[in-house]
Amino acid sequence: MKTKQDRDEYIIVIGCGRLGSHLARLLSKARKSVVVIDKDEHAFHRLSDEYSGFTIEADAVEIDTLLRAKIDKADVVVTTTNDDNTNLMIAQIAKTIYKVPKVIARLFEPSRQPVYEELGIDTLCPTILSAEALRNTIIGEETGDLE
Ligand code: AMP
Repeated sequence: MKTKQDRDEYIIVIGCGRLGSHLARLLSKARKSVVVIDKDEHAFHRLSDEYSGFTIEADAVEIDTLLRAKIDKADVVVTTTNDDNTNLMIAQIAKTIYKVPKVIARLFEPSRQPVYEELGIDTLCPTILSAEALRNTIIGEETGDLE
């Protein structure tokens, strides 16, 4: 029998759009235990037949939705909706109320990153990642961080 320490990681992905669906598929392929939440039922069409995780069609801003997803048992919560405020709100709930060990939020506006850092929420900022990837493609990687 698996102990709490060595049981499979349980991961909740909020938003099943372009980013969330892709992430959920990758995690499912890696045999992780994953549930993906989206308020739009059509969003789940993005998941392939191979996706073996769960889906919940509901607004993830509602506490009831997060409880249905068993947020109190989650090891990781990733917020990937298309709205920074929504992502931050859910990430804060996950971190402060449900003490989820690892919380990562999609963040469109790079200047808001310090706020998340202060709250202990990791961010994934596609704008910065894209700029860095483009820089590396154009001039190589040895020119220091983007600031
Ligand atoms: P995308 O920008 O393509 O990655 O899509 C973002 C996804 O987040 C869409 O499928 C939206 O329906 C979903 N979304 C936005 N707000 C919420 C919310 N409050 N609860 C659940 N899903 C949401």
